[in-house]
Amino acid sequence: MSLNLLSEDVVPEHAVDVKHEAREFAEEHIAPNAEEFYRTGEYPWEILEAGMDAGLVAQDIGEEYGGRGLDLEQMLAIAEEFYRADAGIALTLQLASFGAEMLEEYGNDDQKERYLRPVAANDQITGLAVSEPDVGSDLAGMHTTADKDGDEYVLNGEKYWIGNGVEADWVTVYAKTGDTGDRYMDYSLFIVPTDADGYVAEHIPEKMGMRASKQAHIVFDDCRIPEENLIGSEGAGFMMLADFFNHGRVVVGGHGLGLAAAALEEAWDFVHEREEFGRHVADFQAVQHGLADMRLEFEAARALNYRAARKVEEYDNPGLWAAMAKTKSTEVAVDNAEQGMQFHGGRSILTDRRIARVYRDARIPVIYEGANEIQRNLIYRQSGEQQ
Ligand SMILES: Cc1cc2nc3c(=O)[nH]c(=O)nc-3n(C[C@H](O)[C@H](O)[C@H](O)COP(=O)(O)OP(=O)(O)OC[C@H]3O[C@@H](n4cnc5c(N)ncnc54)[C@H](O)[C@@H]3O)c2cc1C
Repeated sequence: MSLNLLSEDVVPEHAVDVKHEAREFAEEHIAPNAEEFYRTGEYPWEILEAGMDAGLVAQDIGEEYGGRGLDLEQMLAIAEEFYRADAGIALTLQLASFGAEMLEEYGNDDQKERYLRPVAANDQITGLAVSEPDVGSDLAGMHTTADKDGDEYVLNGEKYWIGNGVEADWVTVYAKTGDTGDRYMDYSLFIVPTDADGYVAEHIPEKMGMRASKQAHIVFDDCRIPEENLIGSEGAGFMMLADFFNHGRVVVGGHGLGLAAAALEEAWDFVHEREEFGRHVADFQAVQHGLADMRLEFEAARALNYRAARKVEEYDNPGLWAAMAKTKSTEVAVDNAEQGMQFHGGRSILTDRRIARVYRDARIPVIYEGANEIQRNLIYRQSGEQQ
């Protein structure tokens, strides 16, 4: 008796083909390498390149710029398949174009030709630099500055946790450009090539989870970039980022769904094989109820997450729905991982076990793209605004 999770029925028809592509790729390239890349903590360049060859990396970029123009529901379908196979490798595949979506949305034609097209062609990879060593959740409280000097901007400050900060060709940097008295209008976004003078990046210390993805500490020390690298208009950075995160959080919900599915599958298989008291552990009703609860919460989260994807696509209270999907799906991942560990008994803590990897990885999506407390602030506030 095996489980059929991540079924097609909730996936919109136009996203089913790409979901199959993602599953096939995940089974062939991600799952078999998960343990090794967790252990070594190396950057999975070869798997990233295979993902590019398969047309599954950076392909939300529009066809006009050489991508496949995959929409949010298609990106969600890919995410849940990839993260079920392994969250660390999946994060590397997904971050290869992180932030570039804002260039597509708000950038000008010259910027898109020069910086977006190579990402869609998989010749370049990117990152998004928002978080700082001293500020994470307060997006309108970041310290890094970009001061105008002639026809250049001069960046000073530090960023932390930046995916691909070392590996990327360019990163989208969020920096303070004003002091208007309205803290939400003081920030702007910039294209910053990683070979610019004054851009110094190093990897952060080793992580306990998602070790196949790499984050950086970046220091900007009088880092000069031409004024034409400003994305959109000065002062609009916060608003652009907020809109971008609505899409990102639906996909992060997919990270949670993949991890929740992995935990349930792993727990299910284990208790149906393990024997105690002369019977399979799965024969105890308490265990069956635990598995039933894992399934219930997983399916509820998944239905919400796909509903949210549609709402965000249709711009129907996108902030509310994205926050709900992200919170629910990532917390089901944590809960399923916790229950899955308990059902594994002592073997749960063997570091090479898939359930232990899922348990470590599941701690992360409840934090990134806005800690879930911040999501709850948004859910409360925006629920009220709907009345
Ligand atoms: C693996 C990984 C990858 C990441 N990748 C990137 C990246 O590519 N680019 C990038 O810019 N950032 C990235 N981040 C950073 C991530 O977005 C931040 O960690 C996150 O926004 C939280 O910020 P913080 O860690 O500074 O926590 P803090 O903001 O210091 O918050 C700590 C805790 O305080 C509580 N808290 C904070 N504010 C409130 C509040 N208003 N109400 C209630 N409780 C609150 C919450 O429990 C929160 O978890 C990544 C993080 C991780 C772990």
